[in-house]
Amino acid sequence: MSTREEILALAERVKGFMPTDEGRALFRVGCGQARGGTWLEVGAWCGKSAVFLGAAAQERDCVLYSLDHHHGSLENQRGWAHFDEELVDPLDGRLNTLPTWQRTISSAGLEDVVIGLVGPSRTIAAHFDQSLDLLFIDGGHAREVAWADYHAWTPKVAPGGTLLIHDVFPDPADGGRPPYEIYRAALESGEFHERGDQGSLRWLQRV
Ligand code: SAH
Ligand code: MG
Repeated sequence: MSTREEILALAERVKGFMPTDEGRALFRVGCGQARGGTWLEVGAWCGKSAVFLGAAAQERDCVLYSLDHHHGSLENQRGWAHFDEELVDPLDGRLNTLPTWQRTISSAGLEDVVIGLVGPSRTIAAHFDQSLDLLFIDGGHAREVAWADYHAWTPKVAPGGTLLIHDVFPDPADGGRPPYEIYRAALESGEFHERGDQGSLRWLQRV
């Protein structure tokens, strides 16, 4: 059994795109949740955010579903900014983050807490009936993909539940707009109130 600090230190070393201050904020938001809840993240990559959130889920007796098809987003493919040759499967030449994700969750001792869902977000959402006490959207950032995640998953957030969105950049010069657009849509729907932010992370609560 690892201590909280050991798990968080491990999370900081996992490959990924989550700055430490934002990962720590994920952990803090998670620790503020009610006990026994069902949580889900869209976008798992190598498991970095899953360990920050999973460490909190473990403390709150919650379960975190960590969803990804594990073949990377458009921006992770060869020739794009966030490509990583080490994550290519030599057997078929495709990106495959699943083995790394599995090793991450196992080394963090979180296999009973963080449950992988491997497949396309939209298909899983269409067959996922549980309501969510916490939803973290950090999947693909292409306009169509981000909006599909928003429409498929946010209706499942329970009243009083928490919605977190990553890579929210109000200034278009800082990054892609779709995560910002869905964050605005959540606020403008009147269904969510803003509760806090850290870097490009925002969290909201369902009314
Ligand atoms: N939350 C992670 C980073 C996720 S990166 C962290 O902070 O550590 C975004 C991920 O979304 C990629 O791994 C990509 O494979 C996944 N993704 C993109 N579109 C998807 C889709 N339609 N269905 C499932 N996963 C998707
Ligand atoms: Mg992100």
